[in-house]
Amino acid sequence: MSSRLGRARRYRFIVDSMLGSLARWLRMLGYDTIYAKGWHDGRILEEAARSNRILVTRDHGLYVRAKRRGVEAAYVGEDVAEALALLALRYGIVLELEPDRSRCPLCNAPLRLADREEVRGRVPPRVYESVDRFWVCTGCGQVYWVGGHWRGIEARLAEARRLLEELRGRRVSDRGPRHQRS
Ligand SMILES: [Zn+2]
Repeated sequence: MSSRLGRARRYRFIVDSMLGSLARWLRMLGYDTIYAKGWHDGRILEEAARSNRILVTRDHGLYVRAKRRGVEAAYVGEDVAEALALLALRYGIVLELEPDRSRCPLCNAPLRLADREEVRGRVPPRVYESVDRFWVCTGCGQVYWVGGHWRGIEARLAEARRLLEELRGRRVSDRGPRHQRS
């Protein structure tokens, strides 16, 4: 059981206004993520506490407030691959895309595998002819498939995994204050 824990999507997140791209990545990786666009700090902290979500923020003041309130929080920079690596180090999030487990990057609802027939006319004919598997968002109906953009996604995830290895190495070799976990 414990060996499966790392792969389970058991964490849920709430991400601040400045991290829209990270919110989409977390959803694609299968993590239930609220993108708190335009929310004021009080509302974000309240929701994080209420629904037991980890706050991910670029705002140091908000991070400090979260810690004071006992809300689990991660302070990250602008770079998506770095942020994903940090979340993988701390919480063991899975840095692999498995579309069957993905959530819709647009609306956060789970995806489901669709019948090909179902998506006919909803994707370009060339895509329909060349792609076997499609997923449909159970919330907004958006159709997804593994296409040309996949290489870019994989490259970014490979970068995140490389950074994760770097962070792990540092944690073992350097216990200095710079790398103290808060
Ligand atoms: Zn959707």
